[in-house]
Amino acid sequence: MECLFCKIAKGEVPSDIVYEDDKIIAFKDIHPKAPVHILILPKKHIPSVNQLEPEDKELVGESILVAQKIAKEQGVDKTGYRLIFNIGKDAGETIGHLHLHLLGGKRLP
Ligand code: AMP
Ligand code: ZN
Repeated sequence: MECLFCKIAKGEVPSDIVYEDDKIIAFKDIHPKAPVHILILPKKHIPSVNQLEPEDKELVGESILVAQKIAKEQGVDKTGYRLIFNIGKDAGETIGHLHLHLLGGKRLP
């Protein structure tokens, strides 16, 4: 069965998309923890960093470049932002589809 982020990637579940190409999608987090809170993810279902394979390295690199572009568009590239992968329960991961959080727009704790 497909996960929520696979469904969002396919457009089967609506989201507030800020970037999309054939391999990557980025959308606003539904429960933002900062004025700018965007999730960037490969459309391919990779459960987490723990399951990354060498063949995925371009996807991860591209995700970070997309984050860089979005940070600029959202006007936080100069003020600062944080990029986070949560892995597993101690990190508070709730969705098992690799995603990068982009947080900014305020002084982060
Ligand atoms: P994590 O805790 O790293 O697994 O992050 C999952 C994130 O997905 C949380 O910050 C949620 O607020 C966010 N989220 C859950 N459902 C949706 C959704 N339908 N659209 C956008 N963001 C979502
Ligand atoms: Zn998925």
